[in-house]
Formats: sequence, structure tokens, C-alpha cells
Amino acid sequence: MNDEVPVLNDDAVHPAAQAAGHHPALTGCPWHDVNEMLQAAGLRPTRQRMALGWLLFGKGARHLTAEMLYEEATLAKVPVSLATVYNTLNQLTDAGLLRQVSVDGTKTYFDTNVSAHHHFYLEHNHELVDIPDPNLMLTKMPEVPDGFEIARVDMVVRLRKKR
Ligand SMILES: [Zn+2]
Repeated sequence: MNDEVPVLNDDAVHPAAQAAGHHPALTGCPWHDVNEMLQAAGLRPTRQRMALGWLLFGKGARHLTAEMLYEEATLAKVPVSLATVYNTLNQLTDAGLLRQVSVDGTKTYFDTNVSAHHHFYLEHNHELVDIPDPNLMLTKMPEVPDGFEIARVDMVVRLRKKR
């Protein structure tokens, strides 16, 4: 509904930034950085994008489904629809700020860490966790058809609790 309402009070300084004294271009202040990220990706920093970006990027590396983010937004009293959450996540993915990781072909997680890495999927609570070793490789890669090259290998290692 309010999708295109721009942030009006952009001058407000986030308390964390204030406490840090001064800050250069990239600050670690989520509010400031989300604004920068959106603008750099060519997305207008609307109020809803800023609020969702704050939830997404303000807490370190995360793996969230649209439903999980929608629930967080609702709890944080961000007036936003599930459809808008989906749209925003897809826009951020297209802009290269998020990476999609699919599990089961039906569950899609959005990863705030866009660098190359693989995942554990914890079956008992449907949690996606980074595998710390970024150099994990298949020992033998499949042959690819002429004219193609492997863009990326997404490995999801499913874990269940031992009985
Ligand atoms: Zn990840």
C-alpha cells in the first residue's frame, strides 16, 4: 500500500552511529548501510524497503524465508503485506544483495551472505546454517554440455538428529 512512500526523516542518526562518534561511508550502522545498499542497487529507499532491510541486514548473516521475515516485520509493527515481503526479497535478490537457497524445491531461504558457501539443513527445525569451509568441493564435477560452464554449486547437506 505505502510501497512508494520515501523515507522522510532520513537525517535521524541511528543511536549506534552516534555512539561510535563519526563514521565513514560504510559504517556498520544498519540503517545507514541499508540506505547505501539500496541506493547502490538502484532501489529507492522506501520506508518499507528500509524497514525490511533493517530486519534482514541488521543482525549479521541470516537465512530467512519470506514467511519468517513477514512474521518478524509483523512483530516489529512494520505495516507490510506478505506479497510486499516477497516482492522486496526478489528485488534485493535481483540486485545481488541476497542469495536464494532452495531446500526441498518448495522452501526458499534468502541468505544475506552472498559469498560462495554451502549449507547444513537441520531437518528437525528447518534451519539453514552456513558450512564454515568455503573451499568445500565435489571431488569430481559433472561434465557440462558444450557451450556451458558451471556458474555455481549450491550444496545443501541435510542433517538429522541421531537416534
Ligand atoms: Zn548461508
